[in-house]
Amino acid sequence: MQDRAWRAESLAAQALGWVDDKTRAITPPIHMSSTFLRAPDYGNERAYIRDQNPAFEQTEALLAKLENGAAAALFASGMAAATSVFMALKPGDHVIAPQMMYWSLRKWLTGYASEWGLKVTLVDMTDLAALAAAIEPGRTKLIWIETPGNPLWSVTDIAACAKLAHQAGARLAVDSTVATPVFTRPLDLGADIVMHSATKYLNGHSDICAGALVTRVADAAWERIVEVRYTLGAIIGSVEAWLLLRGMRSLFPRVRQQASSAAELAQRLAAHPAISHVLYPGLADFPGHDIAKRQMQGGFGGMLSVRVKAGKDAALATAARVGLWQRATSLGGTESLIEHRASIEGPESPVPGDMLRLSVGLEDAGDLYDDLDRALRGGNAPT
Ligand SMILES: *Cc1c(COP(=O)(O)O)cnc(C)c1O
Repeated sequence: MQDRAWRAESLAAQALGWVDDKTRAITPPIHMSSTFLRAPDYGNERAYIRDQNPAFEQTEALLAKLENGAAAALFASGMAAATSVFMALKPGDHVIAPQMMYWSLRKWLTGYASEWGLKVTLVDMTDLAALAAAIEPGRTKLIWIETPGNPLWSVTDIAACAKLAHQAGARLAVDSTVATPVFTRPLDLGADIVMHSATKYLNGHSDICAGALVTRVADAAWERIVEVRYTLGAIIGSVEAWLLLRGMRSLFPRVRQQASSAAELAQRLAAHPAISHVLYPGLADFPGHDIAKRQMQGGFGGMLSVRVKAGKDAALATAARVGLWQRATSLGGTESLIEHRASIEGPESPVPGDMLRLSVGLEDAGDLYDDLDRALRGGNAPT
């Protein structure tokens, strides 16, 4: 791949056009070595796998390119990536995060991180006045947002949050797992850090656990985050890094197809007699649709949620009756998943009991609708 301004789709399809100098192989090898031979004068830079795994390099380079960042770092999971951003702060620092966000990270912030001395404030990030009011100039070091936000898919204005953060001398980090670089590039909108659960769309095949961060500038704050990864050993294995690069080659067509099917399902389910609400940023009457239209290019993602008119038991029964949708947690794989989030998150969860979360895969959209329609009407899937 000769160097010129190829589009992101082209860069992803060829994993930046990597070619092995020696063999002319067009996919990278997987080095399993945990250590690397030292030069006689100890002058060589690569020493040990925990911070210098060569298997990370091509994957990180591609992700940095897709997000238009200065550098990327792979982590053991999305949670490892996210928590490393917070662990790089200092006790007494103030952070602001959304009320509605990825459940495990919210629990970690209000529990563990708070016990370790971070001051955590949760606000409704769709309310910019509430965010502005929560900022403590001089003390607030980080604003964390997630858009579209799990599991109600609420949309947060990245550019507006970046402006508020920077005015106060704070940094903005964006969990962009659901938007993916296919639809949104938070760094171009002013964010400082992008986080992905690469377990989801970036890998796309429900077969690894991985996370990633991308930074707009490779400054001292970024170095500190990378140091957290190294010292805590929050790293994936070489095989996982290789699989992630393989998965990212098909990122654009996969995610576009998933979003197109999700949009079709959202339209059809909005007219379904058994459903009271469809939560999907692509629907014109969804709160935040105008912001989504501005900051998401070419689609609104493959995630939606529906609320079942007859209530919680009917929602649970619907999830029990599906035949094509898989009843499982997670998202972003080729197979469509359905989940009753309130059951997973427990009694403290703010998620409505009548809600089902849908991750749209690569099956035929008509099949997905028919299966859900039958389950909603009380029919079991044919065995
Ligand atoms: C899954 C997920 C995470 C956590 O990622 P893991 O890879 O499971 O650790 C964080 N944020 C969002 C939006 C997610 O969907």
